[in-house]
Order: sequence, then structure tokens, then C-alpha cells
Amino acid sequence: MAVKLDGAALAAKLKARIREDASALSRPPALAVVLAGEDAASQIYVRGKERDCAECGIRTRTHRLPADVSQEALLALINDLNRDEDVDGVLVQLPLPEGLEARPVLHALSPEKDVDCFHPLNTGLLALGEPRFLPCTPAGVLALLDAYEVPVRRRRCVIIGRSHLVGRPLAQLFTARDGTVTLCHSKTNDLPGLTRQADILVSAAGCPGLVTADMVKPGAAVVDVSMNRGADGKLTGDVDYPAVEPVAGFLTPVPGGVGPMTRVCLLQNVLRAARLRQGESRD
Ligand code: NAD
Repeated sequence: MAVKLDGAALAAKLKARIREDASALSRPPALAVVLAGEDAASQIYVRGKERDCAECGIRTRTHRLPADVSQEALLALINDLNRDEDVDGVLVQLPLPEGLEARPVLHALSPEKDVDCFHPLNTGLLALGEPRFLPCTPAGVLALLDAYEVPVRRRRCVIIGRSHLVGRPLAQLFTARDGTVTLCHSKTNDLPGLTRQADILVSAAGCPGLVTADMVKPGAAVVDVSMNRGADGKLTGDVDYPAVEPVAGFLTPVPGGVGPMTRVCLLQNVLRAARLRQGESRD
């Protein structure tokens, strides 16, 4: 039976450490959140981030904007937050309402305050192996594997999904750790043939039931990043959990696996941004 990769428990431990580190700073770290529109899921995510920050002694200020806010007004707010000495990190909650373009907004953000690691300068630094911030979900996956002493070095890592948010940056982190990476996507031929070779298999396709037991190498570490909301409102991943559990060596639940780790990595980035701005580069 696979060992459960318990992201919720690990995240709780890491949050206690962040709280301690944040309290040691000369002033508490501060995160500005920009939330445009009324998207229900975004409202829930933002409330979760506010709660996480409060638990860790990080101040938050949420800028709620109407769905019909103009691109110019949004950019003006970003510029104000870039200049605001009292703000260490800025997060723009995505997706933006229809009619607004995310890319110019994310590119306008000061790279020093880009705690989601979306700015091209930060993605470039990551690609060069000199990251300023780590992308939250990929860093969360790696921290979870590390905590359970699942080695990456010399292992075959197969990732399903090549998005800029998950698959691509995770491929870079695994490569930097001397893993051998295969990045799969919707046009990949013979996906099961590739996944069966994986010592570490990560699924981030957003397809419930995609990863079946016959696609998993016995003993492999299987990480399910996806969060698919079913018609009944329940969250599921891509992995057929009950069927894969007896085959895999390690397995993440959904929820309670990668999700809480993603959230904790955001907090770590806010702490890092505050330290960098306060002239302390220690992590
Ligand atoms: P995306 O839609 O941008 O990318 C999906 C990727 O999967 C694409 O590269 C696509 O080619 C690939 N893909 C889709 N169907 C496939 C198939 N049948 N076979 C092989 N490849 C396939 O999605 P995203 O933003 O990367 O998110 C992926 C999933 O991860 C979503 O369910 C999302 O909700 C979840 N997610 C979870 C967290 C978290 O914290 N747990 C964070 C980010 C995203």
C-alpha cells in the first residue's frame, strides 16, 4: 500500500516555521492581493490566502475591484503597489474578468514583489537555475517529495501537463535536481508506455481518471496536482486513487496533497520577498 504524501500535515508544520521566521523580521511581511470581479472560486482562494497569511503573521491587504475595471486602472494600481514601501509581495488573483488581459498586468508587476513567480524575469532566472522565487505548485511538489525522502537524482520523472503554471517549471526544478524528465501533454503518443517508466509520476492534466493502475510502475511516487470539481461539487485529481494505492510506493490525496503545499510555498515567497527588501538574503 502506498505511503500517503500528506501535504496538509506537512504544510501545517512549515507554517509554524514561517510564523517564527516572520516574527523575527523588523516589521511583519505584507502581501497585497488584487482581486477583480466576482468569480466564486477566486473569492474562496483569496479568503484562504488571507487566512493562511494571518496564521503566519503576514499582513494582507486585498484590493477588490469591480469586474468592469479598465485595464488602465488595473495597471495604475499595480504601479502604486510596486512603489508602496509597505508592500513586500503582490499577487494578482487569476483568472481576470473577461475583457482584461492578464499578461500585461503580470509583466507590469515589480519582479521583486512577484511572489507567484510569473514575471518573465523570474521565470528566466528559474530557467537559468538562479531562482529568486520558486513557482508555488512545483516547489510544493518538490518539498513534499523531499519531506518523504523520495529522491529525484538519477530518477525518471514523468510529468503529465506542460503548462507554464505547473509542468514546465516543475520540469526545470526536477532537472536542476539531476532527475531525468519526460514532459508529456495532450499530443503525446503512448502516454501509458512513458508513465510506466516513471519513478516519479506527476499528473497535472486536469482529467479525472486519467492515471489508472496499469500506468504506474510498482513502487513509484505518484503526485496528483489536479483539482477537478465534479458535478457533485467534490474535488478529485487525475489519479484513480483506490486502484493506484496498492501499486504506488507513495501517493498524494486530493484534497490534502499538493494544494496545501502550493499555499505554503506562497507564504515562503512572501517571507523571502520581505527578507530581500529588508536587506536580509537568508532563507
Ligand atoms: P492547463 O489546462 O493549463 O494544462 C493542462 C496540461 O495537461 C496541458 O499541457 C495539456 O496538454 C495536458 N493534458 C490535458 N489532457 C491531457 C491528456 N489526456 N493526456 C496528456 N496530457 C493532457 O492546466 P494547469 O493550469 O496546468 O492545471 C492543471 C491541473 O492542476 C488543473 O486541474 C488545476 O486545477 C490543477 N492545479 C492545482 C494546483 C494545486 O495547488 N494543487 C495548482 C495549479 C493547478
